[in-house]
Amino acid sequence: MFDYLIVGAGFAGAVLAERLASQLGRRCLVVDRRDHIGGNAYDFHDRAGVLLHRYGPHYFRTNSERIRDYLGQFTAWTPAAYKVLSWTDGRYWQFPINLNTFEQFIGRSSNGEEMAATLEKWRVPIDEPRNSEEVIVARVGRELYEKFFRNYTRKQWRRDPSELDASVCGRIPIRTDRDDRYVSDRFQEMPRDGYTAMFERMLEHPGIEVRLKTDYREARAQAAYRHLIYTGPVDEYFDACYGPLPYRSLRFEAETVEREWFQPAVQVNYPNDHEYTRILEVKHITGQTLPVTTIVREYPQDYGPGREAYYPLPAPDARAIYKKYETLAAAEKNVSFVGRMATYRYYNMDQVVGMALAEFERLKDDMP
Ligand code: FAD
Ligand code: UDP
Repeated sequence: MFDYLIVGAGFAGAVLAERLASQLGRRCLVVDRRDHIGGNAYDFHDRAGVLLHRYGPHYFRTNSERIRDYLGQFTAWTPAAYKVLSWTDGRYWQFPINLNTFEQFIGRSSNGEEMAATLEKWRVPIDEPRNSEEVIVARVGRELYEKFFRNYTRKQWRRDPSELDASVCGRIPIRTDRDDRYVSDRFQEMPRDGYTAMFERMLEHPGIEVRLKTDYREARAQAAYRHLIYTGPVDEYFDACYGPLPYRSLRFEAETVEREWFQPAVQVNYPNDHEYTRILEVKHITGQTLPVTTIVREYPQDYGPGREAYYPLPAPDARAIYKKYETLAAAEKNVSFVGRMATYRYYNMDQVVGMALAEFERLKDDMP
């Protein structure tokens, strides 16, 4: 008899198992249908010895000291610079858009005041941007929008930016100084020994049993438990009774090259060339020194049978479907829906950790 059956060994599931076992002495059975823990943050060494992120690049960042300190019990941190370039018109551009990009664009040196004044002329005046096209043209105007955002977004989401929430493209910073970091959070660090090692330490507790290659439906038949924590796709839990939620999937293509570095930054985005959106070389941020390197090309894919759901679709029509599932989820007795796919939110790792810690606080009071 377990106190909790936890479906999914990613951030949502692992944080809850760790808290419930270590703080309240609860017995937790964690199942995952994949053959590894860590969820989408899983990393591993490939045949060349390069530490890779199996499901796309995972840049840990947060503004929350509490979340960083919580995870810090299970890992040391290595400071990391998440440096991204954009390749278009046959050359690299500084990205996200900053003063260096502006100088490349106008072909001479400039300063923050000139950049701000110029963007003021280029921008389309929109007070409250309602979608991902409006949010970018309102900041930088149409030309830079078309150069860096429109086609990348169409490739990634198979939708025009005008059909996606403002928060999608709006999460990319635009700066008039020389700060060229991809994200602005206060803490930007990587777990020193990788994500999987951090998850191993979180799940090490004697009150936690992990069963891999085990689907929720199998686990339900195998074990008795009092409360379910579900971190998989919410529509799947309800047998898609309101129809399938839209997701985006990806295909990752790895290639090892016999030289120390392949590209000048951890990530190069390809808004206007190729079928892939970006090439990753995570060795730039994992701290490995090796004479070879492995890169990963990321190809957006439609979601469907045999493919993984990686992104919920942040758009009004998808949200309307999700709302129906959310109502069903709220009515389920003794079940918690936690995490990116279970709550259909385009959340980063730290946000999912925050959500799981908040759920722990609720559960703490619920069960004697
Ligand atoms: P997941 O990690 O998806 O874990 C859920 C687990 O549940 C999975 O392992 C799945 O196999 C399992 N599962 C689902 N259904 C079942 C079932 N029926 N039975 C058994 N097991 C089941 N975040 C950042 O902060 N920084 C980044 O740079 C970043 N980059 C990303 C890049 C990509 C390409 C993607 C896809 C995501 C990225 N993220 C990033 C987001 C990050 O991956 C998530 O926020 C986080 O991993 C979500 O954790 P989770 O536990 O909610 O879900
Ligand atoms: N985006 C873009 N051009 C870029 C990078 C991002 O248009 O060069 C848009 C695109 O819609 C993308 C979103 O901004 O899906 C968020 O980008 P981010 O790199 O944060 O996406 P993730 O790492 O979550 O895939």
